[in-house]
Amino acid sequence: MKFDTAYSLSLDDKLSIYDVRDLNFDETADFDSDQDSFLCPNDQCRAAFDASNALSTFNAKNVNYLRTPHFKNKTSTRHIDGCRYASTHKTASGESDDEREDNFPSEWVLARRQYVRKPPLAGTEGDIPKAPAKASSLRVTASPGNPDSTPDKTSVFAHPVECFVSNIDDKDKLKSMPLKIGEHTATYWTYFKKIEYLQDNKGLIYWGKIKAIKDYTSSFRIDFEKKVWLDKKPYSVNVYLSKKLIDNYRKRKAFLEQIKAAVDSERALYCFFYGVTPELQQVPSKKNPEQTFGVFSANIENLDHLIIREAPGLE
Ligand SMILES: [Zn+2]
Repeated sequence: MKFDTAYSLSLDDKLSIYDVRDLNFDETADFDSDQDSFLCPNDQCRAAFDASNALSTFNAKNVNYLRTPHFKNKTSTRHIDGCRYASTHKTASGESDDEREDNFPSEWVLARRQYVRKPPLAGTEGDIPKAPAKASSLRVTASPGNPDSTPDKTSVFAHPVECFVSNIDDKDKLKSMPLKIGEHTATYWTYFKKIEYLQDNKGLIYWGKIKAIKDYTSSFRIDFEKKVWLDKKPYSVNVYLSKKLIDNYRKRKAFLEQIKAAVDSERALYCFFYGVTPELQQVPSKKNPEQTFGVFSANIENLDHLIIREAPGLE
């Protein structure tokens, strides 16, 4: 049983596993999922047990992952009768349902969610130590509504990307699930666009297999394998990540760890990004600076909206 959310004891709020990953890697956040306790998101069920009745996390801290991150029951985790998180159900085919993301958010919110800690309350809720007072200025500001329903929104790009990648063998599902980004709603299938077809439409999530990552020490260029055709000529496609962009990123360490591993990786890696559309530019040739050649290129503007990952089955 995968949980769509879990209740975080330290934040007194419900988080998806993607929220937890975002917080773990955020160097500006005072958060470590190993120090937190995650409890059943069903309010009634949670109220029936003390705070030691916790869930475990899977891939909460792994920078590079293949299998879908999730919360799950420990063998000792108990639920009240009728709690929908109680089942240890397997799919009809007998595979564990851990193998795909089946919670499809219907909206990807581009603004980052603010996770805010409540002031510690003395002597409540049993014996789990409360967060230190220094964190008490934090307060939840953007908690999703409907406390008992499955959350319908995410602000973490990795979540819709995981939906797409882990369900790539189920195109009917991807074609039926709606996704809203900004003012526009389309299906998951429509929103995820192969990089070679980027001229079809702007404002999509473009993705493609990475041919190479150029490491300029403090900046990077990601080259895609597939080319864009324009007037019967093929053009290379790349995205550029500037030093300033990386230096100012709140998840800088995790990002550098990931991209430096990707530079040297022998494995097939894919890049997903949103927010910019590569456009044809003329750049000087290295060998012959008098000459220019055309390339489709874009500067990434927000690293929260870029992902490099393995994605088996995408070819
Ligand atoms: Zn429960």
